[in-house]
Amino acid sequence: MDMMLFNTLSRTKEKLEPIQPPKVGMYTCGPTVYNFLHVGNYRTYIFEDALRRGLAYLGFEPRHVMNITDVGHLTSDADTGEDKLEVGAARTGKTAWEVAEFYTKTFLSDSKRLNLLPPHELCRATGNIPEQIELVRRLEAKGLVYKTSDGLYYDTSKFAPYGRLMGAPHQEGIRGGARVELSPEKRNPSDFAVWKFSPKDRQRQMEWDSPWGRGFPGWHIECSAMAMKYLGESFDIHCGGVDHIPIHHTNEIAQAEGATGRPFVRVWVHGEFLVMNKAKMAKSAGSFLRLQDIEQEGYSALDFRYLCLTAHYRKQLDFTWEGLEGAKSARRRLLDRAQLLARQAKGPAGDAARPILDRFKAYVADDLDMPGALAAVWDALKPGGVSEAAQLAVLREADHVLALGLFEDVQTVLSPDLQVLLDQREQARKSKDFAASDRLRKELADKGILVEDTPQGQRWIQRKP
Ligand code: AMP
Ligand code: ZN
Repeated sequence: MDMMLFNTLSRTKEKLEPIQPPKVGMYTCGPTVYNFLHVGNYRTYIFEDALRRGLAYLGFEPRHVMNITDVGHLTSDADTGEDKLEVGAARTGKTAWEVAEFYTKTFLSDSKRLNLLPPHELCRATGNIPEQIELVRRLEAKGLVYKTSDGLYYDTSKFAPYGRLMGAPHQEGIRGGARVELSPEKRNPSDFAVWKFSPKDRQRQMEWDSPWGRGFPGWHIECSAMAMKYLGESFDIHCGGVDHIPIHHTNEIAQAEGATGRPFVRVWVHGEFLVMNKAKMAKSAGSFLRLQDIEQEGYSALDFRYLCLTAHYRKQLDFTWEGLEGAKSARRRLLDRAQLLARQAKGPAGDAARPILDRFKAYVADDLDMPGALAAVWDALKPGGVSEAAQLAVLREADHVLALGLFEDVQTVLSPDLQVLLDQREQARKSKDFAASDRLRKELADKGILVEDTPQGQRWIQRKP
């Protein structure tokens, strides 16, 4: 099935036409590992993971590359301020390398709990310095960069399509950076550093030799260099949050296309923010929640994933605890249902699951409409609808994209002591000893087994504590 995606470049929904179908090269901007990530960051990574899974579900073969920014991201977009990694080092008393290692590890363990598929290539900026230097060299050879006292800057006025991603005409794009402090040596407000020199008075922890002097790469150059290294000079999909449209991604395009003269990316897909109390969740804003914070409140990472899937990726998602509670109970119901069906659905699914899955697929293919896809799943579970075997088939297939862990630890057999209690309760009901049956139900509930009476007899669900 075709995949339709809203392309930020054209501002329309377009059919994905991969360069080498069915392969799809996909680059997603990874975290700057100077601090814990917040759940806003994870909203973006969840949407990107759903996109990757959705593409695979539709028959494409995505190849996913993600970077880890472990050097060069300054505290200001104006190429002033300090390197966030060095700031993190000063804050924690560790080295910049240790800081990067520590937060990369926490990112990877969070990602696992969120069921984010590991990228095919996870590349660190510090592991690809020669490639970045080489790209700057190419830009220099084309006369696109100039030297100032603190680094090498890209002259955005020399790249005619500059600002296209913002939908701004060239001159406006170039003025776009005017809101950031204008360094006196910059030729245009939107010019940005591709290589920064180490300060003369202080030794940096992370620095490298280059043809222009000792220093470190600008933040944007790593993504252009690594995306092209691993996916080729032109590739299919590049993702990130909407905050990256005006600066980071606009500059990535200028660097890549300035050097190669070829289109860098076919489709740019941007996810909207997670907001809390009407404000974008951001580390710098101080009010942010980590994944651990919501886990400590008794929610699973996958409850948060469910919450994210209830909003279209191009709409803001307002984080509230009530919303997360709703997501938790909805996911709980899906888990219970999956468990019950896995244990007792009988017979083949027949043709009944197909139209439901076709609907599910059509939503996924329509610009990754996950709220629609979820609704299709819920419809399938309505009482009086399709057979249990068909429901099971729907849940199993849908979870390849939803990745809500519906079948992760499905219990089909109970431990013998619990089975004895269940048998006793069934017996008590048969002999209409309701006092005993209620007592046994409570005893089972205390041990995590929920019993439900149905016209087909007693059914149970095991819940993890
Ligand atoms: P950063 O480490 O700041 O580059 O952010 C990592 C990713 O998270 C980027 O794709 C950002 O666009 C995204 N991001 C940052 N803040 C939010 C937010 N509040 N909601 C959704 N995505 C965000
Ligand atoms: Zn990037």
